[in-house]
Amino acid sequence: MRYSETGYNLEIDLSRGNIERVETDPKLTELHLGGLGTNAKILWDRVPPETEPFSPDNLLIFSTGLLGGTPAPGANRTIVSTYSPQTLLMAYSMMGGFWAPELKYAGYDKVIFRGRSPNLVYVWINNDKVEIRDASHLRGKGAVETAELIKQELKEPNAQVAAIGLAGENRVYTASIEQGRSSASRLGVGAVMGDKGVKAIVVRGTKDVNVARPAEYMELCNEVLKYIKVREEHPVPGVMTILQGLGSPQEMKHVDEEWHTQNFMWGNARTRKKDYWNKEVEEKWKETQENVRKRLISCYNCPMKCGAIISVPGISTYMMKCFSKLTYTMAAYSDLDFGFKIAQRATEYGVDGFSTPQIMAFAFELKEAGILTDADFAGCPSDNEGKFYWLLDRIARREGIGDVLANGTYWAAQQIGKGAEAYAHNNIKKHEQLPLKLGMLNPVYFLMYATGEKINITQIEGQFPQSPFPTMAEREDFVKDWIQVPDEKFKRYLLDWEMRGERSNPYYPTVDMSVDIVDWQEKMHYIDDALGVCSGLSSFPLKPPYHMHNYPRFISSATGIDMDEAGLTQVYKRNRTLLRAVNVRRGLRRADEKPPEDHWKKRFPELEAKLLDAYYKFKGWNNDGIPTKETLHELGMDYVSEDLEQRGIIKNGQD
Ligand code: SF4
Repeated sequence: MRYSETGYNLEIDLSRGNIERVETDPKLTELHLGGLGTNAKILWDRVPPETEPFSPDNLLIFSTGLLGGTPAPGANRTIVSTYSPQTLLMAYSMMGGFWAPELKYAGYDKVIFRGRSPNLVYVWINNDKVEIRDASHLRGKGAVETAELIKQELKEPNAQVAAIGLAGENRVYTASIEQGRSSASRLGVGAVMGDKGVKAIVVRGTKDVNVARPAEYMELCNEVLKYIKVREEHPVPGVMTILQGLGSPQEMKHVDEEWHTQNFMWGNARTRKKDYWNKEVEEKWKETQENVRKRLISCYNCPMKCGAIISVPGISTYMMKCFSKLTYTMAAYSDLDFGFKIAQRATEYGVDGFSTPQIMAFAFELKEAGILTDADFAGCPSDNEGKFYWLLDRIARREGIGDVLANGTYWAAQQIGKGAEAYAHNNIKKHEQLPLKLGMLNPVYFLMYATGEKINITQIEGQFPQSPFPTMAEREDFVKDWIQVPDEKFKRYLLDWEMRGERSNPYYPTVDMSVDIVDWQEKMHYIDDALGVCSGLSSFPLKPPYHMHNYPRFISSATGIDMDEAGLTQVYKRNRTLLRAVNVRRGLRRADEKPPEDHWKKRFPELEAKLLDAYYKFKGWNNDGIPTKETLHELGMDYVSEDLEQRGIIKNGQD
């Protein structure tokens, strides 16, 4: 018997209408765990690197994680992987909610789509019965509306639905996959779903998921719940409000937005409004948020409440989570009220609430600069809010200038020309990033931005504080109960980190320390993404309940696989290196690992080069970011080096 996983994937060929239940190789679970790890392996094995994202040969994989659907709190992530139309690299986007556990209960670890359906369809997975059904009546419908209509049609109110809106149907590069309480938004996974002709995937499952040693496993789960409670009662002092507790930043609970609104840039990363937050704004924002927020909501089996049901008079109710309440507001230089209104329409269209507002702000900046003209905006209202609604409609429908903008700022700037490239100043690997521009370079963040392939708001941050604590007493207090550190040296790194002077940014943490810190943070994210555990309870917040010391026990008691910290570190290295190899084969090189020019006011080219050199060396990659033959051999991945050698990417055994 397979434990914690079902041992079966659902393979759906949309071109032929063929559905297969395929047994998976348990050896792959030992090597990669599941989720992101096995997704990367499938893409490596089955999708040639020349494949265009919008090709029937591209795969679209929906994966549960190895612990998904077990009683482990927060083990509910769906990891969606494919090749991204925006970066042309491997996309992996996550969603929480209830979809992945439901898929496990239906008897599958992954759903893998290949081909392209000639007509718009939805897939209905009802335990062993799987059907491809006509979705022509759902064409153009909103993502949330689609889920409701399908549940009514099937008379299955408890089914879990992942759906795209009009943006996905129209292959807008920032199209998301919406799932009621969560969404997979980054890197255009919704556009690939639209290209494949799949409007929705509906799941209902009533089977069991078995774990190898249930009593031991339940004890571990109870320990996590107990620790969550302790952490909730002891918020971390000395850090900004949203980092004090657990969960994905609990934006729907917090009303204090002084830090975000004054430190993040407004518009298309254009201006910082240093004096924005005052008593009057604070009261108005509190009132607006509390008026529209009907209820805080959680994902499957999680005591946190990171999302909220939002109801604005005259507009359908929807779910919002995380930072999206601010992204439209700040892009449009508007107020919170506007953000809550427009986000409803954007959710129905199914677009990434992070990139899309920046694309719109970018377009209006191009108009002000005379690069786009009145003709491009014919019919656009003149009021600020009206303008943003108008443009959102054009982008989702790919109409007029919206057709160009639907490809994101990087590609749109290339198409528009006339100097538009200078306004797409917020991208890494061709994708919109956090509109945050800072003064002094932080070496750890430099590395995370440069090398991260998740292209996610949180990149790979989380375990180590974002900035030093001002006093030694605060630092000592912080390290006192820092049980999560994989090595005591991290406590010393933090204790010695000063706000100013020799041991401050950019030269402290030193190059080697920065690499260590990034590696730890990255390790936690990659393990979460393979296990399907929400980063909000693990890799993202400070002092989380899951960490390197208890994860091996979770894996062992759930699966029966003998796992210790060294073994888990090896799996992480394998997954990280495989993902890098997948992207290297698609052209990723050192030259792409470049945070935006203006991300920090002061840059240190020599230091930045040293950081990258040291990071690559630590990973066992060459100076261009390509895993070496030796590293691949150590990780049991000679098949990767053979392929890279055949393609001339690894030459003379190394370079
Ligand atoms: S921490 Fe928040 S986002 Fe994560 S599973 Fe729990 S409720 Fe969902």
